[in-house]
Parts: sequence; C-alpha cells; structure tokens
Amino acid sequence: MSDDGVLIVGAGGVSRVVVYKCVQNINIFKKITLASRTLNKCEKIQNEVGKEYIDIAKVDADNIDEMVALIKKVQPFMVLNIALPYQDLSIMEACLRTNVHYLDTANYEHRDTAKFEYKLQWAYDKKYKQKKIMALLGSGFDPGVTNVFCAYAAKHYFDEIHTIDILDCNGGDHGYAFATNFNPEINLREVSANGRYWEKDKNGKGRWIETKPLEIKQVWDYPEIGHKDSYLMYHEEMESLVKHIKGLKRIRFFMTFSQSYLTHMKCLENVGMLRIDEVEVDGCKVVPLRLLKSLLPDPATLGERTFGKTNIGIVAEGLKDGKKRKIYIYNVCDHQKAFKESGAQAVSYTTGVPAMIGAKLMIEGKYQGEGVFNIEEFDPDPFMEELKKQGLPWHIKEL
Ligand code: NDP
Repeated sequence: MSDDGVLIVGAGGVSRVVVYKCVQNINIFKKITLASRTLNKCEKIQNEVGKEYIDIAKVDADNIDEMVALIKKVQPFMVLNIALPYQDLSIMEACLRTNVHYLDTANYEHRDTAKFEYKLQWAYDKKYKQKKIMALLGSGFDPGVTNVFCAYAAKHYFDEIHTIDILDCNGGDHGYAFATNFNPEINLREVSANGRYWEKDKNGKGRWIETKPLEIKQVWDYPEIGHKDSYLMYHEEMESLVKHIKGLKRIRFFMTFSQSYLTHMKCLENVGMLRIDEVEVDGCKVVPLRLLKSLLPDPATLGERTFGKTNIGIVAEGLKDGKKRKIYIYNVCDHQKAFKESGAQAVSYTTGVPAMIGAKLMIEGKYQGEGVFNIEEFDPDPFMEELKKQGLPWHIKEL
C-alpha cells in the first residue's frame, strides 16, 4: 500500500470535482487513479486535468472480485467511493479484503428498497478494527460538512446543544423545466420518500416521527439567496448525529424545492414513473425510474447552464454558560464560480470538495482510526480550516 495514492471510483458530477481538487493538492495526492464503469467518462476527466496527473481504469464496483483485483493492482492508500450508494457495501468489502482505507459521501441503499440507513455499514466496524483500517462515512456536504458544522458548534459554541435544523437550499436555476442536481434516481427516491425527524419525548426517550412526503414546510431566509419554501425530509446524517451530539432533544432536515420541480415530480409519481420495480413493456423488463433517469439531463452536464447559489448550513440552539444561544453556520457556493473552477455545478462542487478534504486529512494522519466512523466523531477544526482554503468558506451568525 502506498501512503499517498488514492483510487477514486465513479466518474460522474461529484467525482470530477474530487479529481480536480486532488490534482490541485497534488503534493498530498501523489498518485491518483480514476476508475468507473464507463471508461470514456474517466478519459474525459483525464484529458481535462492532464494525463500526467491521473491514471484511469474500468471497473464494475458491484463486482467485489473486480474491485479487489483493481485495488491490488493500484495499491492505493485509500479508496474514495464516489460512485452510487448501491456500491457502498461491495467497495467496503473489497477494501476490507485488501487492507485499504475507505471513504464515501452517501450511505448504502439497496436497489430494490428506497430506504437508507447506516446499519449495514456500521456492521463493518469490528472487521475494520481487526484489520486496523478505517472507513470515513459521509464525507460530502450533507452528510459531511453539516456534520462537521454540528461538531464545531458543540466544541466551540455550546455546553449543550438542544436542537439542530439542517437547512439545504439550492437557489440555482438550470433553465430546464425539470432536472435533478445529482443522480436522478437517488435524488427522486430521496425526495419522494416519507419525511422523518427525531425528537425526545417528555420522558427523555428519543424517537423518530414519520411525516408524509414533503408534508411539513417552513420558509427560511437564506443569506445571499432570500426567502425559500423549505420542506422537511429524512436525511441520513441525522441518524449518526443523534448518536454523537450529546444532549440533543430534536433534529430536523429541510430542503428547498421550486414549485416547478414539485409539480413535475408529483405528476411523474402519479403516472408511475418513480416506481423502482420492474414492469413489462413489449416483452422487455423496465424499471420506470431508471428509464426516467435515462431521459433526464445528466446532472454532470448542468454546470454550464446553472446560475445562482447554494446555501447549506445548520441552525443550532442550546446553552452556553447557563444562557440560551442560537447560531447559524452556513456556506454559500456560486454555481458559475464552481463551474469555472471544476466544470461542475455547485451541488457537485460542494460534495466533491469535502470528499477530497476527508481524504487529505486521512492521508495527513489528522483523521486516523481503526473501524468505521462518521465524520463528526473527529476534531472538526482541521476540516473547518480546510474548507476555507479549498473553496468552501463558511460563516457564523449569532441569531
Ligand atoms: P453520477 O450519477 O453523476 O455519477 C455516478 C458515477 O458512478 C457514474 O460515473 C457511474 O458510471 C458510476 N457508477 C455507477 N455504478 C457503478 C458501478 N457499478 N461501478 C463503477 N462505477 C459505477 O452521480 P453524482 O456524481 O451526482 O453522485 C455521486 C455520489 O455522490 C452519489 O453516491 C450521491 O448520492 C453522492 N452525493 C452526496 C452528496 C452529499 O452532500 N453527501 C450530495 C450529492 C451527491 P456510469 O456513468 O457508467 O453510470
């Protein structure tokens, strides 16, 4: 195993940003290999950043043996899983078999069930400990930076945090009537699912409360964007934050959607286009959501035509020195600025930069451990410093 080589799996919108950022930090990432299912997507990125900086390879990451063979050939320090949540377990397993560290940006999902949870990935903890390797889960923006913001608030601003609202706003416009900013299949499964948030009852017992899809709405004034309808959804970082932020009484996640997005999604759902089971069409088996994915614009091509900003952050409330306190930590990212730097819009950019930062901190030994970790388990300070240096500056407001 080299001590500074990375194998990046997946060559979509987020991955291109990871590659660009790793190349910008070439003093840390001395050997970069990009591998994906469709080789020409890797070639395109390789041609843009320069053949001298990265090697490319073809791999089907669902196939553990293929992944193992590639890891043995490349001998990286770690694998960055920037493919899809479906590949999390096969890539984790391949890392385990080859004694190589692991990082991802989204938690495992089974193709046939639109449900995501950390259980199956956390179950690797013991095996990773035995092999003395580390997995860093959820090193994107949300999950990822939002977890780091929570850990930073807990460390520097509160004695106890009681409530957290994670607020994710995409104020950008790509000019299409309907498109998704990251993988359409993953995006639509997430948004059309029931909502869920966590709170403690009168007896101090934590429980998940389920809501209908997008049933709860609030309007939030996002700095540099303005007032936006924000809908309560389930989001995976809540599952780990509930475990790791002590004293928490409630945590919720809100995301903004335009009326046009919601109307299109509802119509598509009503006619069955979001179904993830197979239907037979003229003797062929088709999964409607996957057909829809193939018809929608590829999120990796949205960069050039997306204008506006994203604003993602957390509002935390609690006690400091016996007094009530409420703070807002957020990042604003400009779609066109991200595109000029990396060829990708801000949703990919805000995910790819933290993935690179997580890997950088692991290579530098600042994030080190044996087992499976969520990012808020580490000291947030070095991550927060890197965010400022690597293109995602953040702000703190006392509310
Ligand atoms: P894309 O669909 O643009 O890219 C996915 C890439 O993975 C494609 O290159 C695809 O190849 C490749 N891939 C899919 N299956 C396999 C496989 N079996 N073997 C090898 N490669 C495969 O997705 P995004 O770039 O938008 O998203 C990447 C990841 O980032 C996702 O897991 C997503 O959930 C996550 N994400 C996380 C966020 C966060 O803040 N934490 C926010 C946004 C995204 P092919 O082209 O051949 O299909």
